[in-house]
Amino acid sequence: MRVLLALGGNAMTAEGSATPEAQQTAIADAMESVAGLIAAGHEVVVTHGNGPQVGNLLVKNELAAAVVPPVPLDWCGAQTQATIGFTIMNTLEQSLSRRGYDPHIAAIVTRTRVDENDPGFTDPTKPIGRFLPYDQARTLIEEHGQVWHDRGEKGWRRMVASPAPLEVLETATILTLIAAGYVVVAAGGGGIPVVRGPQGDVRGVEAVIDKDLTAALLARSVGADVLMIATDVDHAIVGYETASAAPIRDVTLEEMRVLAAGGHFAIGSMGPKVAAAMQFVDQGGQRAVITSLKHIQTAVTGDFGTVIQGRSDPSQTPTGAVPG
Ligand code: ADP
Ligand code: MG
Repeated sequence: MRVLLALGGNAMTAEGSATPEAQQTAIADAMESVAGLIAAGHEVVVTHGNGPQVGNLLVKNELAAAVVPPVPLDWCGAQTQATIGFTIMNTLEQSLSRRGYDPHIAAIVTRTRVDENDPGFTDPTKPIGRFLPYDQARTLIEEHGQVWHDRGEKGWRRMVASPAPLEVLETATILTLIAAGYVVVAAGGGGIPVVRGPQGDVRGVEAVIDKDLTAALLARSVGADVLMIATDVDHAIVGYETASAAPIRDVTLEEMRVLAAGGHFAIGSMGPKVAAAMQFVDQGGQRAVITSLKHIQTAVTGDFGTVIQGRSDPSQTPTGAVPG
């Protein structure tokens, strides 16, 4: 199976510690699971979140704004793709070597095209970074043109566009590397947001793209059989954090649509994962799974996690039931 594996930012950050050592250890743990998937015979393309890592870069931007000009968000995206990609290459290489493989891994700086007219650019809705008191946010608003909203007692928060991903510009490169036997790491943090100008020129924009939505797009673009969204919970849950909470296991696209419309999945966390899983299957994907990192190997073909089956899932055993 060709598997597009989307790793959550939290799956790659040691809780409560942002030291390089702690991040490296967390990524090494995640790569053990990825190596298991590869050793089971699957062709794996990895994408990953970068929320905590970009958050750290933003703090540096804020604290140094009076001395060194802050860098734009597309730069932050590129920087985190590089550092996370580098760490993934080192750790996954080790995990695969230990299993007797001769690993070929390529982390690709990846651009994702968005629409310059996306409503998010005039009315940004995605909060990022930490809360600041107004006197600190002011430099960033007045001198650097950033949008910050007053959030009352907590302070001020930066707001940015979160446009829909339209095209992964490195798709042909990724397909070439897969064909040559590489494990490809691509579109980290949803990809660096870019727009294309009238002359075909590409430029970065200040935005963040949801990594789960880009994962669904990339999964279709590379012809993945399975979209595997790995996070820190075993299942999407109906009635999350209520007395009637229950894990969702096998579910049809139509059933999942009803649950999503019922508001069961939080905006900005489980919501985009469910949306991405539904989109992949709706566009012809075989199987979309949401589960925790440690269960990806069982969940890829077997019976674990929240699984939306497409119409052509070969692992779906016919029950002999007569439809209608
Ligand atoms: P990632 O870093 O993997 O993208 P997120 O924090 O964005 O992870 O999303 C996973 C989180 O979504 C879970 O840890 C949980 O707190 C939250 N969540 C919100 N709604 C639900 C739900 N209905 N079922 C399960 N988890 C949910
Ligand atoms: Mg997330």
